[in-house]
Amino acid sequence: MIRFSKLKDILSTHPAYRFAQAEHAVFKELIEDWQQATSLPLQLREQLNRQLPLTIHARNITMPHTTKALIKLHQGYTVETVLLAHAKRNTVCVSSQVGCPLACRFCHSGKLAFQRNLHADEIITQVLYFQRILKKTGDRVNNVVFMGMGEPFLNYHHVITALKMLNHENKLGISARKISISTAGIAHKIKEFSREGMQVNLAVSLNAPTDSLRSQIMPVNKKYPLKDLIGAVRYYIDQTNRKVMFEYVLIDRLNDQPVHAQKLSVLLKDLLCLVNLIPYNGNGALNPPSPKALNRFKKILDQAGTQYIQRQRLGKEIDAACGELLYRTHALDASGETQAG
Ligand code: SF4
Repeated sequence: MIRFSKLKDILSTHPAYRFAQAEHAVFKELIEDWQQATSLPLQLREQLNRQLPLTIHARNITMPHTTKALIKLHQGYTVETVLLAHAKRNTVCVSSQVGCPLACRFCHSGKLAFQRNLHADEIITQVLYFQRILKKTGDRVNNVVFMGMGEPFLNYHHVITALKMLNHENKLGISARKISISTAGIAHKIKEFSREGMQVNLAVSLNAPTDSLRSQIMPVNKKYPLKDLIGAVRYYIDQTNRKVMFEYVLIDRLNDQPVHAQKLSVLLKDLLCLVNLIPYNGNGALNPPSPKALNRFKKILDQAGTQYIQRQRLGKEIDAACGELLYRTHALDASGETQAG
C-alpha cells in the first residue's frame, strides 16, 4: 500500500513544484520506483524510496476479460480488487473494507468477518495497481466501481477522499461520470452523498420489494427499511437530478416470482431509476432463477413500464452486486505473487 497522503508532509521543506513533479511521476508517468522520477534530485529520490516506497505487493490471477488481484496491506491484511476489460472499457472494481459487516445472504464477501475500513490510500492503490499493468499495453483504467468487498458508506470519509483522488486531474483523472458507488442502503449516507456535489453514479443493492423479504436477504434492511431507503433515494434524485441504478439479484423462488416483479414496479414507480437485473450465480444454498422465471419477471416489468437492463456473460461479472464480484478471487491463495512496482 502506498501512503500518498504522506507525500505533502515529506516534501514540506521543498519548493511547491517538487510536490507537483512527484505527483506527476506517481500518477501520470506511473513510476514504480522513485529512481525513475528523474525530474527530482537524486538525494530526494533516495529519501522518498525510504519513506514512501512505491512497490505494490500483490498476487493476481487472470481469466478471460478479468484479472483479480489480492493486494497486501500492512499488518497482514489483504484486499481484493478486479479489473474487467471489455469493449475498450477497463473497469476496476474496488473494495472499501476488509470483510463486510452486513452479511447479505447471497454475498460471498459478506461471509468474511469485518476486519477494518480501508484508508483512502489503500483504495487508490487498487486502481493504481491496474493502471500500471495497463500502461504496459498502452491502455488505462477508464471506469471504477465501488462494488468490491465492503459497504462504501460505512467507510464514508475515506471513500469520499478516494473519489476525489480518482477524479482529480493531477491524480488519476478519471471522470466522475465513469465512477459508480454501490450501497446496500445506508439511508442517511445516501442523503449526505447527494450533498457532495459529485457527478458520481449511485447504485443501490435492492434485491427485494418488501421489508419482510429484504430483511431476510439483507439484514441491513432492519436498520434502514424500504420507507427510509426509498425516501433517501428520492431525496438524492431531487438534489442531483441523477438517475439511480437499483441492483436486483434474482434468486430462484426467493425473489423472482411474479408478485415480486409487481411489487418492485409499484415500489419504484415515478422514481428516476433503472433496475439492473442480475441472475444469481448460485452458492450451493441459493440457486439461479430458471429462464422461465426470469422471462416472466421481465415481462411484468415491461408491462408496468419499469425500466431495466440485464447483461449477460461479462455483465454477470461487471454487474454483480457488491461483494459478488470478488468471489473467485479466493482461488488466489494458490497462485503466485506478482509485483506491480
Ligand atoms: S453484498 Fe455488499 S454490503 Fe452485502 S455483505 Fe456483500 S459486500 Fe457487504
